[in-house]
Amino acid sequence: VRLFVEHPLTPSQPLPLTREQAHYLFSVMRLGEGAELTLFNGVDGEWRARVSEAGKKGGVLEPVERLREQAGPPDLWLLFAPVKKARTDFIVEKAVEMGAARLVPVQTEFTNSERIRQDRLQAHAREAAEQCGALVVPEVAELARLDRLLSHWDATRRIMFCDEAEVEGDAQTASGRFEDATGDGPWAILIGPEGGFSEGERKRLRQMASAHVAALGPRILRADTAAVAALTLWQTRFGD
Ligand code: SAM
Repeated sequence: VRLFVEHPLTPSQPLPLTREQAHYLFSVMRLGEGAELTLFNGVDGEWRARVSEAGKKGGVLEPVERLREQAGPPDLWLLFAPVKKARTDFIVEKAVEMGAARLVPVQTEFTNSERIRQDRLQAHAREAAEQCGALVVPEVAELARLDRLLSHWDATRRIMFCDEAEVEGDAQTASGRFEDATGDGPWAILIGPEGGFSEGERKRLRQMASAHVAALGPRILRADTAAVAALTLWQTRFGD
């Protein structure tokens, strides 16, 4: 069992459990006193810990030894237009597994959903991080309008602009294509909604010096597939 906790992890500090955590560990996972599990908190690395008290409404864990030093994923954001609920959940889960550091739902011109359940998506991100061995839980940002985000864009963060209109690979951009990009620095991958990007959005992105256009092959991928494919391409080129 691997659990994210919001407490400092040191052997001198026993860790009280919330009711939900106690329910999960003792009723769902059936751990008892003396059982061992793995903890991380996004700051102190990964720890082996032991259950020192197990109750119905709470309990206490004891960090025993550090297993891994803290390390973060690369500075990579995933900007994605929310799609249907199950597919959005999939995007969040896979983005965490694929090493995105921050997930930013964006409202584009053709995005259908105007609301997201940020708390739900954040809980999915935490579960994915627990499951995949990540040492931090990526933040799921609030839904933001793409045009506003681009107006305040930090030019040092390059954008891998996944454009479904780019299957031919001959488009002109201010900064060139993703496959020609080199060097270090923060990145954001941008995936559009099922309806794709509008011509206005496309034009604006192509004029941005930080945006590098990327094609994901000759077929139109669904937004959730496109997110995984783009993360894979980015990791192959710039990941560790
Ligand atoms: N409705 C659009 C169309 O028919 O042209 C398709 C949009 S696609 C389902 C959703 C998003 O996935 C796109 O906005 C883009 O970001 C990404 N995507 C899908 N296929 C792609 C490809 N072959 N190259 C680059 N991006 C792609």
